[in-house]
Amino acid sequence: MIYLDNAATTKPIPQVIEAINNCLQEDWGNPSSVHEMGRTARAKVEKVRRTVADFIGAKPDEIIFTSGATESNSLAICGYLKKQKRRIVTSAIEHSSIREITEDYAVTDIVPVDGCGMVDLDCLEHRLIVTGNPLVSIQWANGEIGTIQNMDEISKIVHKYNGVLHTDATQIIPDRPIDVNGVDMMSFSGQKFGTPKGIGVLYVRNGVKINPIIYGAQEKGLRGGTENVPYIVGLGEAIRQLSYPKQKVRNHIAYRLLSEVDGCYIIGSLIGDNRLKNHISLCFTGVEGEALLLLLSQRGIYVSTGSACSSGSIEPSQVLRAVGVPERDLYSVIRITTGIDTSIQDGDMAVDEIKDCVQMLRRVAVL
Ligand code: PMP
Repeated sequence: MIYLDNAATTKPIPQVIEAINNCLQEDWGNPSSVHEMGRTARAKVEKVRRTVADFIGAKPDEIIFTSGATESNSLAICGYLKKQKRRIVTSAIEHSSIREITEDYAVTDIVPVDGCGMVDLDCLEHRLIVTGNPLVSIQWANGEIGTIQNMDEISKIVHKYNGVLHTDATQIIPDRPIDVNGVDMMSFSGQKFGTPKGIGVLYVRNGVKINPIIYGAQEKGLRGGTENVPYIVGLGEAIRQLSYPKQKVRNHIAYRLLSEVDGCYIIGSLIGDNRLKNHISLCFTGVEGEALLLLLSQRGIYVSTGSACSSGSIEPSQVLRAVGVPERDLYSVIRITTGIDTSIQDGDMAVDEIKDCVQMLRRVAVL
């Protein structure tokens, strides 16, 4: 089995599983209980809160634990807009968990991106001039095409016009060290770097006012519900174990496919530092991406046709449309995302199988 779908989720790290198991067996108290077991659980949660804060350059009281980036995004956007009528400015390539919220707000401005998926900064500035004090939500890195935005520049522009900046950092967190300097709210998910699915974080800068969307006393009243102590402990361990990917295997796979398969091109660019290091999005013209994915899956090679959250949809990807992929190629794209332990040999085996499957599908297409 060669797993090349790490942007969708990652394999839980053994030390994370061990930390979670220990917590489930030993420290299963409710952190709100006042007795000793409760206090032990509370101490575990607060220790991880400090770990997360240090990890992203925040203060512990700026960290809210959630069930994942989806919930963090909802809390950031809906929680911020609940009591204040502001416009939202966002980009054309946001994750569905942002896009589908903002579609519900009549006053959303969508900033376009270029062919590599970089946000048009002039257009962003123009939208800010005309809207005044908006909430801006722009993802730091895109899961489907791997583009990394220039968050420093975006932050300068947003704050020049007194906007509040939220960013979805889910994909950038496992790629390279980042911090919250310059952003007001930031979401991410543990499952992209070795925890099970179901644990996430929302950072909210002190002074930025949000309201809960799930009510209750926990997390300073901003996110009700007993804290998921085992997964919070797992998140702390995943941060301790985190190691960042190198471009070598990704580049090897990409350059082999580009040189050995006709009618194959990269969405976005591999040059420069504006792409996730483990990420390639490739179009094989005339080949149906979903068919390619299924054939590869039968051979034990796991890739995806785009964001896992949007695949299976009969609508073509809005992200691919936004970066100008021609209509005829919209269904011919696959995404390969290597993992920390993907070797060059794994890459070679995957390339050989992809070449074979592409040839087979093209042969069938002309029959
Ligand atoms: N944002 C981005 C950019 C993502 O890639 C994902 C996961 N695919 C999410 C948000 C949602 O994360 P989760 O499903 O863990 O809530």
